[in-house]
Amino acid sequence: SVSGSLSSGEVDKASAHFPLCMAHLHKKLREESHLKHGGRMQYGLFLKSIGLSLEEALVFWRQAFSRKITDDGFQKNYAYNIRHNYGQEGKRVSYPGYNCLKIITSNSPSAGDHHGCPFKHFGADSLRENLSRYRLPNSLSPLLNPVQVEELMGLAQKNHFQIACTRLLEYSRNEDNLETVINPAQFYELSKTSTLK
Ligand code: SF4
Repeated sequence: SVSGSLSSGEVDKASAHFPLCMAHLHKKLREESHLKHGGRMQYGLFLKSIGLSLEEALVFWRQAFSRKITDDGFQKNYAYNIRHNYGQEGKRVSYPGYNCLKIITSNSPSAGDHHGCPFKHFGADSLRENLSRYRLPNSLSPLLNPVQVEELMGLAQKNHFQIACTRLLEYSRNEDNLETVINPAQFYELSKTSTLK
């Protein structure tokens, strides 16, 4: 697992290093002040895996939903599931973050859902748009150039989803031959620890 800890107030800043799937969930959470169950699970367990404690998770989600959901409603309808993910309810299993294979192969998003893997689940136009505006946090040139975007599009079209994701990380770190990304936390850690200035 991952070293370090993250407070609820640090998530926005950390999101600069998120892979496309989690950057999308974070953006939608901020836009809509809500995520459906599939998104809360995928994003919540990811945040846990990168160091958000149960106490901080309860603060993070309550604040994130506060434009739409009262404190009371939050306690009634959402707090249990968060505690459950941290092994504090039900079977008391502390659940790990989903790996890429699980995100890619199970529980395909329906309309209104924001979970899933963008390389697999987004339509071509939406994927291209997301790649075109992805900020490379470690790079002097903050955006992918059009040739790079089309390379990633081509990999996704050939079902090489994780290779496309890895290539994005390589562009971000200005490095070749990284090991294939197998879970979103790995992408985050490697992006965050890039030695590039
Ligand atoms: Fe997220 Fe994995 Fe897809 Fe990358 S390959 S966007 S980390 S699910």
